[in-house]
Amino acid sequence: MGSSDSSPTAAWLADFYRDLHAHPELSFDETRTAGRIAERLVELGIDATAGVGRTGVVGMIRNGDGPTVLLRADMDALPVEEQTGLPYASTVRATGPGGEEVPVAHACGHDMHVTCLLGALEVLMRDKDSWQGTVMAVFQPAEEVGSGARAMIDDGLFERFGTPDVVLGQHVGPLPAGMLAAHPGVALAGADSLRVRLHGTGSHGSMPERSVDPVVMAAATVMRLQTVVSRTVAATDTVVLTVGSIRAGTKANVIPDHAELQLNVRTYAPDVRTRVLDSISRIVEAEAQASDAPRKPEISPIDSFPVTVNDDAAVARTVAALRKRFGDTNVVDPGPAPASEDVGDFATASGAPLCFWFFGGADPDVFTRAAASGTAPDLPPNHSPRYAPVIEPTITTGVAALVTAAREWLN
Ligand code: ZN
Ligand code: ZN
Repeated sequence: MGSSDSSPTAAWLADFYRDLHAHPELSFDETRTAGRIAERLVELGIDATAGVGRTGVVGMIRNGDGPTVLLRADMDALPVEEQTGLPYASTVRATGPGGEEVPVAHACGHDMHVTCLLGALEVLMRDKDSWQGTVMAVFQPAEEVGSGARAMIDDGLFERFGTPDVVLGQHVGPLPAGMLAAHPGVALAGADSLRVRLHGTGSHGSMPERSVDPVVMAAATVMRLQTVVSRTVAATDTVVLTVGSIRAGTKANVIPDHAELQLNVRTYAPDVRTRVLDSISRIVEAEAQASDAPRKPEISPIDSFPVTVNDDAAVARTVAALRKRFGDTNVVDPGPAPASEDVGDFATASGAPLCFWFFGGADPDVFTRAAASGTAPDLPPNHSPRYAPVIEPTITTGVAALVTAAREWLN
């Protein structure tokens, strides 16, 4: 392919990436990141608007008549203590949503997404004679809490910048760097996190007859919740229900007056999601009643991610272009994944088709060695304290994938 999308990646990108990696910011706190992005957009000669949906940034390249292509990158990091040992590893600490101090790291690779999108915009700017239309670059806050895309849409993203004809986005994942993966249809699970507060009556540890013990209530609830997936969901439907947090009490001889659970639910179909959420409410309330709780329990949402549905035709068209550029064997269909994303909100809210793919960030040598020894590759997944993509060929691949996909829709 003689076109400029295969030219070597600009040297500034690796430095830019290392800088972002060393300066991660939590969801809706991405002010430094947004500032660096806006600054870079202006240097590239691209119209930049900051503060869209709190910390979001929009870059617009208007290049004559033609389709509008939305390219999306998310910016936020996670409350994770980085243990990669990299020279540019994060040592940042920040105030978490609960007011507590937390470590912060780019453990999901969103710094790579930002870098690759800026690299792609540079290529598209340099090469404006060979395409026509509008590129809407969306740097989204707060993907990790599932509300950043919604915040930008609610702040008038489409009214202010136009409605896209297609939404394209990518996520770095545990594939060998240089490889891409896209799945048509339902590609990622929907996720709901819930907080359950169970009310009991406190007492002395020696006088349980005077209490309604919320610890026993919580334990019974957790056990009964295990029947949702095993007894109320069909074998052909995939659901995950995890109780990730259980808290009650402070001392061995005090029966506390409340307990709190945090639940995470993953589903792939709206009717299954409704059935599972209804089952959770029923079980939580019935276990409280069975314990003779003085008050009804409270169930409140923590966050919610939609099911990510890739448009079949948009994936077919984009994947064909990616295969032409990267070779058939380097673009695979990974099937649906249990992870979750809010990129689908841009497609749902604008009515445009979505094509969201993964690009590899893992050292290809790890796969070669694992294949040679007949073992599974030892790779920390996204969100692990040890997770970080290799810089190359990850950046080059991520930039070229975005440019190739964008051009396919712009031409
Ligand atoms: Zn993540
Ligand atoms: Zn992510």
